[in-house]
Amino acid sequence: MSDSYFPLHGDDGYAVTAYDLELAYVPHTGRLAGRATVHAVARRDLIALRLDLGRFKLHKVLVDGRRPAAWRHRADKLHITPSAVLPAGTVFAVEVRYAGVPHPVRTREWGELGWEQLAEGALVASQPHGAPSWFPCNDRPDDKAVYRIAVTAPTPYAVVANGTLTSRTAGASTTTWVYEEPAPMATYLATVQIGPYERVELAHAGPVPQSAAVPPALLGRFAHDFARQPLMMDLFTDLFGPYPFDRYAVVVVDEELDVPVEAQGLSVFGANHVDGRRGSERLVAHELAHQWFGNSLTVADWRHIWLNEGFAKYAEWLWSQERGGPSAAALAARSRSRLALLPQDLRIADPGAARMFDDRVYERGALTLHALRCELGTIAFTALLREWAQRHRHGVVTTEGFTALAAHHASRSLDGLFGAWLYEPALPELPGLPERPPPFI
Ligand SMILES: [Zn+2]
Repeated sequence: MSDSYFPLHGDDGYAVTAYDLELAYVPHTGRLAGRATVHAVARRDLIALRLDLGRFKLHKVLVDGRRPAAWRHRADKLHITPSAVLPAGTVFAVEVRYAGVPHPVRTREWGELGWEQLAEGALVASQPHGAPSWFPCNDRPDDKAVYRIAVTAPTPYAVVANGTLTSRTAGASTTTWVYEEPAPMATYLATVQIGPYERVELAHAGPVPQSAAVPPALLGRFAHDFARQPLMMDLFTDLFGPYPFDRYAVVVVDEELDVPVEAQGLSVFGANHVDGRRGSERLVAHELAHQWFGNSLTVADWRHIWLNEGFAKYAEWLWSQERGGPSAAALAARSRSRLALLPQDLRIADPGAARMFDDRVYERGALTLHALRCELGTIAFTALLREWAQRHRHGVVTTEGFTALAAHHASRSLDGLFGAWLYEPALPELPGLPERPPPFI
């Protein structure tokens, strides 16, 4: 089955186990040259297979080191016919050599996605389907794989990608940065950030290493605006369970971004999100929460997007209360009042591709969680969140999976609650909290 919102992306005939990307980038021309090796397992007998890849010039396509019987690259699809059928269960590798100036994936709703050239360097923000703008992939959120990403760029530039920097080798005028991400990752969360950044470690970061890459001129503001991120990490670890990856990095690009962007183990903010007054602190919390909800637990299909955005939005409210701002209950009441003024024509459990990032999905997704917390009580609600995050760590999730698990934490049926909040467009009333919340939530 293909993704219900982007059926033209991805191929369910195989599962990718690892991507090995070797990239060279020339910032002043914008040219990217790549060698990608996609390690995969056939899920059925494969006569042919497809990879998603944007407009590049392809120099070579190999399957297990041999030329395939045929390949053609058209309309952002690389169709490959191997020289022999790959029987179900076969482990195989496709190598693609490609080059060109990456073209972002253009969308009506969300502008350009994927690889974007900056005045100095590049950023990648692919959600939901921009990954083929920079590497050949099985572009569906449910096919997660490990990554090795090697990027060669001119020496003054810093390169940040997902995972751990395992080597950095300087040549005459270029440096090769190698990152390894050992936790399975969806294609849309793979990223490379290239720019004249200063790399810094966050002080007092505790058990999870937290670093940043920031334009030097913004370092002072950054230090102030992100100073409480380690406290957020502590709060979310208490509420959601252990941080799911080895480290967390933040990149601030020297341009304005409409919204920050999450990637696995990493978040990207615009210069406009660093104002020296913590004006975007709720977004710092939002992006960090995505490491659990979105990145470790990834939607099996894009229609379940509220499992990412509703949870990240609710995390903003929990952080507000923790720092002494308005409580989650107060923010929920405000949010419901705002939503009541908007059209109620959206089903949160399946908002449709065009409206998957509609504010109402975020707000009402968070309200659904608040209503659930009112029903279960804070202690059972927190136990549910922790079990949800632990049980599906590094996996894929569905709305039905969440509601089924929630039922195990409830003393009476939740069908009415979930039916009203997730599956019907009309906005339900918010119940009151059944007890005084403990101080940590
Ligand atoms: Zn988000």
